[in-house]
Amino acid sequence: MNIEIRGLSKIYPNGHAAIRNVDLDIGTGMFGLLGPNGAGKSSFMRTLVTLQSATSGSILIEGLDINEHRQKIRAMIGYLPQDFTFFSKLKTWEFLDYAARLATNLKKKDRLIKVDHLLDQVGLLDVRERMANKLSGGMKRRLGIAQALIGDPKLLVIDEPTTGLDPEERIRFRNILSDLSQKDVTIILSTHIVGDISSTCHNMAMLNKGEVAFKGSPEGMIDQV
Ligand code: ADP
Ligand code: ADP
Repeated sequence: MNIEIRGLSKIYPNGHAAIRNVDLDIGTGMFGLLGPNGAGKSSFMRTLVTLQSATSGSILIEGLDINEHRQKIRAMIGYLPQDFTFFSKLKTWEFLDYAARLATNLKKKDRLIKVDHLLDQVGLLDVRERMANKLSGGMKRRLGIAQALIGDPKLLVIDEPTTGLDPEERIRFRNILSDLSQKDVTIILSTHIVGDISSTCHNMAMLNKGEVAFKGSPEGMIDQV
């Protein structure tokens, strides 16, 4: 996966510049986007996944301009927004099966195989019959990841996935992402927690007030601070 971002800016209609002239190259593996609240992480991610358009600048994914190839780009991407919530009254497996019905053309038998494979991958096979909205916070986050993986994306974009998780769940979550990135899924993860990035990401950028304040390896950032 090769993502080339040049001169990217996002100014909202109210005049607020949430992203300012960002240049970034993101390659295969796990990339961390670090920054405090309001730094522009969600704005960056929503723009990258084509939910909103940039005010200026360009994003190329595998050489394709995201504005000119939206459908192709969307098919490559799995996205887990920060405020992802679940439909009530669906069991955990039913929720994923519904996502599979929307995102794939698989027949029921193959969907169920896929659903259980994904539940296993995120450690939720044991709770497949539990109502999705009754899962713990950490489990919900893991179900969110499974949902984002349903279309076999090459790029997984996850917005602040570890916020509010206890340390044990946080480590579990990191391990799931590490395993995924070993399987050729490029991951972009935003967080305000340095530890989420230093233990898992090869490469990172730090955003501050919409600007790139640092880019390089997590070790390089820690040395600089
Ligand atoms: P982060 O994800 O790092 O917390 P955001 O991208 O959510 O940052 O927000 C960056 C800044 O842009 C914040 O000041 C936020 O209030 C503002 N912002 C986000 N979305 C909008 C919007 N739709 N309209 C106006 N301002 C916005
Ligand atoms: P985050 O927790 O990532 O900082 P925000 O609270 O900034 O997220 O944004 C949550 C939602 O509210 C987003 O959909 C964003 O577009 C919207 N939003 C945030 N700030 C503003 C704003 N100043 N004006 C309008 N919409 C905003």
